Amino acid sequence: MLVSNILFIVAGLLLGLAFQGGMLLFLIPIAGVAAALGYMNLPRVPGGKTASIPVITRVAQATGISPAISPDVRNSIKDASTEYNEPTSTLRVNQFWARTNADVNKATNDVLQGLKRVIPNAYSVIVFSPLENVREWAIREYCSDPNAQVATDVRITENSGLISQLFRPEVNRLLEGDLMGGKSLLYYIDNPMIKSLVAVPMLDREKNRIGAIVVDSLYPNAFSQSTAQALTYIASALYMLSFKSVVSTKNYIAQQQFSVLYGYQHKFFQTMSVKDIYRQIFQYVKENIPFDRMMILALDRQNPEDSHKEREGHVVCCDGIDSEQFANKKFTLSDKGLAVLALFRNRPVARNFSSGMGGQYVPRIDDKEKRNMDFRQLFVMPVSSDKNATLAELAICLESRSSNRYSEHEMELLKAFAGVAGFAYVRACQFEQGKDLASRDGLTGLINHRTLHESLRTEKIRANRQQYNIGVLMMDIDHFKSVNDTYGHPIGDVVIKGIAGAISGEIRKEIDVVARYGGEEFVVGLIDTTPEGMIETAERIRHAVMDLEFDVHQASPLRVTVSIGAFLVKPDFHDMKKAVNNADQALYKAKESGRNQVIQYTDLTAEHVVVEKGA
Ligand code: GH3
Ligand code: MG
Ligand code: MG
Repeated sequence: MLVSNILFIVAGLLLGLAFQGGMLLFLIPIAGVAAALGYMNLPRVPGGKTASIPVITRVAQATGISPAISPDVRNSIKDASTEYNEPTSTLRVNQFWARTNADVNKATNDVLQGLKRVIPNAYSVIVFSPLENVREWAIREYCSDPNAQVATDVRITENSGLISQLFRPEVNRLLEGDLMGGKSLLYYIDNPMIKSLVAVPMLDREKNRIGAIVVDSLYPNAFSQSTAQALTYIASALYMLSFKSVVSTKNYIAQQQFSVLYGYQHKFFQTMSVKDIYRQIFQYVKENIPFDRMMILALDRQNPEDSHKEREGHVVCCDGIDSEQFANKKFTLSDKGLAVLALFRNRPVARNFSSGMGGQYVPRIDDKEKRNMDFRQLFVMPVSSDKNATLAELAICLESRSSNRYSEHEMELLKAFAGVAGFAYVRACQFEQGKDLASRDGLTGLINHRTLHESLRTEKIRANRQQYNIGVLMMDIDHFKSVNDTYGHPIGDVVIKGIAGAISGEIRKEIDVVARYGGEEFVVGLIDTTPEGMIETAERIRHAVMDLEFDVHQASPLRVTVSIGAFLVKPDFHDMKKAVNNADQALYKAKESGRNQVIQYTDLTAEHVVVEKGA
């Protein structure tokens, strides 16, 4: 067997081992040297063909950071502006890439050191890699004579002299043996007289030229075709190293990111409250995704009888530059903003906006909002448990002032998160709705008997702490049987619903408590009231009911009245069940005394006392 073949096999074995695991990457330079030596020992074949090179896709950009260039070069070209929200996870991702970059650079440098030693009379050995695009290369690593002064900031483009020929598709190698009187090359500061040069391009899968290996010498005819061929193999091996490193880093980052997702899935599973889900989504975004502005939009729950109406929603949470205007903002699905569009279509919406005055502002919710032209990129991800549903119930809207902040990878990640969150959201909505069904009366939407006692108990604890009164009103529709008998049960139901509305209109919605206590009986808890305040409210309710008119398709509308019993729970009174009973007794008295009136329980006891005294 030829010496060269043995060396090639050794090189192959070493490379194979190196790619088995990151720990063995140090074998790559040794493999490179073995391959180079192997090729130098090959019998000379004039005009030999260049080996085809195994390749990788373009400069990989998994999270917006290119690992193909050294960190210092990258920092010099990176957009200096930082995001409003720059999560620590992004910084960690940057660190992964920096480490990968350093590893690949180290391995590349080792290969170059080896080459410099085995190629006789080599002055410098240099690897070029692309910067932002594949038509502009910078020095990635080099190993040169101690006397050489390499211009590390050189940029090779299509018009940069000799090396630029490698951009041309038909040039597979450069082999210059006698550069006339020596040539000063762009990548030297001190212009040494280079007499020989050998260079090969690095190719990717699409045959893009994504860099080159260049070896030069101060001696004429220092290199042969076989040196060029050896460089081709090494270019291929270095390329593979960088490819594998990028892939494994990408996978590693994805694995980390998905384990974060898994953590959230667990959190979502433990929560049954819609509000907690909003909170957790916000927390995830804040911890994992850079943004300059974000909001979460949700459609409001709709009663089945309103199903003909347009769905409404509001912004449940927002953060970042110019976001205050969106806090709690209401919208309907006919608003034409981009964020609403994502809900309306249940599809992600991604937009880039051009910079400068020429750009047009596209509303995020509606055209009343402030036109901030600083944002360059927008991404809205609907959160839905069913991707075939016509509407999404929830959406996450992200915006950035930089135009390439959200890469495909980030969009995919957010999609996975939205899937997890979507399921949790539906579950929490159903749970809350179920709780509502059990605690609320279907006809009026008011809380029921059981829930009333629960909330009166809770309110009483708070009232004790702050030493205020609770007014309890118990009311019953007068002669309601005759309403049913005359107009039918359905009209009776309309009356009950109308009265529930009238009562709700006279109390403080967020503070007081109102329940449908029985068939045509209602109980109101007036939180923090006075004796006069309680009676005033009761009278207001009584009048509001008297003012109601129900159309029964007759000459005059139907009117009804209610009787009301009232009892004031002072801080020293503790039994809320008894309080409701007392109000009921007062109600009985009101019925007895002619209906359509308010009677307070104290009046009753006073009367009792008088009666007893008289007896
Ligand atoms: P009073 O002035 O003494 O209260 O006379 P009333 O006829 O209203 O007597 P009562 O309060 O005892 O009447 C209760 C009636 O309310 C009996 C029942 O038919 C009717 N009712 C109870 N629940 C409902 C309901 O959900 N829908 C309808 N349409 N009627 C109901
Ligand atoms: Mg009754
Ligand atoms: Mg009644």
